Amino acid sequence: MIIEPVFQPMLPIVGGGRFPVGRIFCVGRNYAEHAREMGDAVPEPPFFFMKPASCLPAISGQLPYPPRTADLHHEVELVVALGLGGADIAVDAALAHVFGYAAGLDMTRRDLQGAAKDKRRPWDMGKSFDGAAQVAAITPAADAGAIDDAAIILTVDGAERQRGRISDMIWPVAAIIAELSTYMKLLPGDLIFTGTPAGVGPVVRGNHLAARIDGLAPLDVEIV
Ligand code: MN
Repeated sequence: MIIEPVFQPMLPIVGGGRFPVGRIFCVGRNYAEHAREMGDAVPEPPFFFMKPASCLPAISGQLPYPPRTADLHHEVELVVALGLGGADIAVDAALAHVFGYAAGLDMTRRDLQGAAKDKRRPWDMGKSFDGAAQVAAITPAADAGAIDDAAIILTVDGAERQRGRISDMIWPVAAIIAELSTYMKLLPGDLIFTGTPAGVGPVVRGNHLAARIDGLAPLDVEIV
């Protein structure tokens, strides 16, 4: 081989073991209040985008402030980890494909994303950078309790910025998996960020972000 094989990103599993991460899918505008704050006067169906798995943090709990931005935003989200793959998965069968759940942060260079939107260009450089996908340890679904009506909360330096309920999602988890699986075959190891409630905003170096979802391991991240 002329180069070393690509590093396999892994996430810890609550109770032991590690989860090898394949691809990272994200849902855009899956909470009506957030869609409104982003400028949708009339709610439209959510949509998908992706981040490479290399966006997982190099050092757990730390996010170096990324280059090429002056407007780094937080988006607290429920992350779904798939243990089974498949194409054209039925809604009724979708949750059987879930290995577990985690609290996550879809970190976003909002200024780059906005400039891309204005010119009808791709968002990738707004959504993808080192540390852009912050994810807590994965709680196996059997141990996660009823997450379908869990509270999802983000505080920054102790002040609440975002609060919602998983039940506020426009597309619930099963619908997301079913819909996404019509675009391409899903694989074990895929993660899905399921969208953020209202209240997104900027963070700066020194901020401490605390993402909490009832029943799941906490996610604490310092911007360095
Ligand atoms: Mn998001």
